[in-house]
Amino acid sequence: MKIAIIGAGLTGATIARLFAVNGHNVEVYEKASYPGGLAYDYDLSGTMVSHYGPHIFHTDYEDIWNFANKFGNFIPIKYKVQALTRKGWLPYPINRESIIKVCNSIRSMKKEIAAGGVLKENHGYELNLHNYETKALKCIGNRLYKTFVKDYDAKFHGRELCNVLPELFDGINVDEDDHKNYFYKDTFIGFPKHGFTRMIEKMLNHSRIIVTFNHEIGQKFLIKIREQFDLIVSTASPDSLLNYRHTIIPYHKSSFTFLSCDTNWPTPTVKFCIKDIPFINGVDYKRLHKGTNSVVMMEMISESGDRLYPIRSKWNIFLHQKYANELKEHYGVISVGRLGSFKQISMALSISQSIAFVRRVTSLYNKYNNIYKVKGEL
Ligand SMILES: Cc1cc2nc3c(=O)[nH]c(=O)nc-3n(C[C@H](O)[C@H](O)[C@H](O)COP(=O)(O)OP(=O)(O)OC[C@H]3O[C@@H](n4cnc5c(N)ncnc54)[C@H](O)[C@@H]3O)c2cc1C
Repeated sequence: MKIAIIGAGLTGATIARLFAVNGHNVEVYEKASYPGGLAYDYDLSGTMVSHYGPHIFHTDYEDIWNFANKFGNFIPIKYKVQALTRKGWLPYPINRESIIKVCNSIRSMKKEIAAGGVLKENHGYELNLHNYETKALKCIGNRLYKTFVKDYDAKFHGRELCNVLPELFDGINVDEDDHKNYFYKDTFIGFPKHGFTRMIEKMLNHSRIIVTFNHEIGQKFLIKIREQFDLIVSTASPDSLLNYRHTIIPYHKSSFTFLSCDTNWPTPTVKFCIKDIPFINGVDYKRLHKGTNSVVMMEMISESGDRLYPIRSKWNIFLHQKYANELKEHYGVISVGRLGSFKQISMALSISQSIAFVRRVTSLYNKYNNIYKVKGEL
């Protein structure tokens, strides 16, 4: 098959590599001048810097870890994060220590949640699930909510949480164990020795893969190439490929401020769960990657920038699906990856979904040897 892939991020590169080793010819089009997408990183005078915030690979699946390691030569790490809250620095995600510091005991937290999130005598009204705040209160109780969610998520959404749709709150991890690791559910956690960009470059380095950088694909180009390729796979956002003909699918965007200084934060990566600090996250890259140059990055939600976090309201999910269906029907384009699926996916999930996608296409192709039937079933 002759396959076009839009985007040279981790999803595009994994799919390209797997098709190429299966004997297919792949052309990748990337709008940036470098590969990597959101995982783009570089060495800044002796310190590895991730351009879009710290990227740590984490998975519980050994085969996914081994696959990534073929290209990345990973250094296993322990990844801890603390949150600056109105109660001071606390471990994050919420663990036993944070619960005890905020709620005095696990029993007291459970009692509060069982009472409907907030002790009724404090508020005097019944809770409902009509907005983000009430849903979060019901889920974790008043004290954890005020400490970890109220200010952080209000900065994230740009408004008071009583004015945010309840469906946008998709839970928060509260673990009663004493774990100290941010990805405490996963066994394999690490970072490629020379960074993700180098790892992705290595994936794309194959005799049957051609990569064209600085090439943004739009609707005109899709019309031009749809007859030239058997399959077009896109990791771009479907609305951008169709010139936003309905309306823009909304994402939260961030601005990143880089500072040349050192920190005394308790962990190299921190969250700011207090109102007074406008930033949401901070990372001290020198400490995180044991570098030599002082580089601190501060993240703040902003109106402009790259599309980072999908705003998954029911309407936006519908809008995304409409665009993706149109792309498939009119141009035969299959949408995948974080932008193609309109979901926040980890890098490990990006790889496992890509493996599953290529397996499915290849098995259908071997079964039918007819690309139109393959596309029909995708
Ligand atoms: C702030 C943040 C932090 C994260 N941290 C972690 C982490 O610590 N660990 C983890 O596992 N995951 C993390 N993730 C998730 C991780 O970034 C993604 O899983 C991964 O990058 C998915 O890659 P992708 O290829 O699907 O998308 P992307 O990386 O977005 O790649 C899409 C590519 O397509 C290109 N493109 C877009 N439109 C066009 C077009 N029209 N024409 C040509 N090219 C186009 C883009 O330039 C880009 O290179 C984080 C995500 C965010 C937002």
